[in-house]
Amino acid sequence: MQKDLVDFERNLAAYTGAKYAVGVANATDGLQMAFQAGGLKPGEEVIICSHTMVATAAAVHYAGGVPVPVETGPDHLIDVASIKTAITPRTRAICPTQLNGRTCDMDAIMALAAEHKLEVYEDAAQALGSKFNGKGAGTFGRAACISFYPAKVLGCLGGGGAVLTNEEEIYTKLLLLRDHGRDHTGDVVLWGLNSRLDNLEAAYLDFQLKDYPGVVTRRRAIASLYQQRLGTCRQVKLPAAPDAEADHFDIFQNYEIEAEQRTALKDYLKSREVGTLIQWGGKAVHQFRKLGFTQNLPITDALFTRLLMLPMNMAISDEDVNYVADCIVDFYGR
Ligand SMILES: *Cc1c(COP(=O)(O)O)cnc(C)c1O
Repeated sequence: MQKDLVDFERNLAAYTGAKYAVGVANATDGLQMAFQAGGLKPGEEVIICSHTMVATAAAVHYAGGVPVPVETGPDHLIDVASIKTAITPRTRAICPTQLNGRTCDMDAIMALAAEHKLEVYEDAAQALGSKFNGKGAGTFGRAACISFYPAKVLGCLGGGGAVLTNEEEIYTKLLLLRDHGRDHTGDVVLWGLNSRLDNLEAAYLDFQLKDYPGVVTRRRAIASLYQQRLGTCRQVKLPAAPDAEADHFDIFQNYEIEAEQRTALKDYLKSREVGTLIQWGGKAVHQFRKLGFTQNLPITDALFTRLLMLPMNMAISDEDVNYVADCIVDFYGR
């Protein structure tokens, strides 16, 4: 926790538009500490989207709360109508995941939260630089996590994360929580974690952050090319194109499509040397029954038979993208 960390935290806060950024060991710890700093109490429910990493639910769990997964909307983000039906007297907060580098319709979520006196936290692990109505992912609620896991758009060398907040009290608590509850004098003032962002990682991230806007531009160009090539293919449903919706600025952490005959398509692409991924190993959070989830979410269940992520990275050329599109067209044309 030397100068490089302080510099990175300042630059990250400036880039996102958050008042404070706190480097932590990973986004999962970060989200847990965000709930703890926000005063989540044992047994309080936090509504999350079932299409997220289990980490979102685990963060709620380890902060003492109860994660309540709800349905996924057509844009693969939390379904606002489904949040409404999940609200109970025990609900404390809504924690949308800004998935695939896209920010939810935060006007609708913030309005619903205000109406029911709920707090909002964000899992913005995948959404650094993403915006809704010009406002950065991770700056809408009380606090949010960002991940620097190497597979994320801004990846570090191992694990890393940050918490964004606009609240000074949460910020001050996070500084204690990430470092064993120790204050600047060395006195221990609360139960904390060992969850620091190493100075070396911070230096690496601060350097990479300078190029980040260019990285986002390239990813959006890849998305545009996929749109151009596959927009009329009726067997696939593509994410919204970069310029399709004025409210949204997406950074395309992933390019997650819906596909007919998903598994056969994945196998076919593999036979043509195109690697694809299915997020979360193909399971939504509520489908992990061993964790005690009992929710019945048929829309998400159906969606999870159709999801597939096409290559989206900084190594892929326009020629590669065209090849992937050709393969998909060939598959459905057979
Ligand atoms: C990657 C990811 C996380 C966890 O991030 P870590 O830094 O590995 O803890 C949490 N939520 C979502 C949506 C993610 O994609």
